Amino acid sequence: MWFNKSFFNKEESRRIVEAIREAEKNTSGEIRVHIAKKVRQSILDDGLAVFQKIRMYKTAERNGILIYITHKSRQFCIIGDEGIHKKVAPQFWDNLSEKMTSYFKEQKFTEGTIATILEIGTSLKQFFPYIKGDKDELDNTISYEE
Ligand code: CA
Ligand code: CA
Repeated sequence: MWFNKSFFNKEESRRIVEAIREAEKNTSGEIRVHIAKKVRQSILDDGLAVFQKIRMYKTAERNGILIYITHKSRQFCIIGDEGIHKKVAPQFWDNLSEKMTSYFKEQKFTEGTIATILEIGTSLKQFFPYIKGDKDELDNTISYEE
């Protein structure tokens, strides 16, 4: 697990968690970041499995969204729960992926992840606005493959 932990260093991890906290000030949507070692089935299948495993469906509005990244190949996928899928157009996912891809191509993994998190916060605002008294339903810390 040690090498997983090194994908983002301590300072980068802190900034990412901070970005999640910022983004969740805009929306009731819940964002998480997960680092896996490598691709097993396909990046999407793996991401979906982790989404279930870390119980990201445990939100009242089913509006959890997972940024799933593999350490070795630096691939990623962005997975949203059914509440989000009911409201956004397919372009929503394409836009997020395209932007994040352009950062990753330049090896800007932390910047790309943070930009994506903040963008999710802003884009989800119209569908799932932050309401006073909002609960932090899903932990903001980065999760890692065990
Ligand atoms: Ca929340
Ligand atoms: Ca949260």
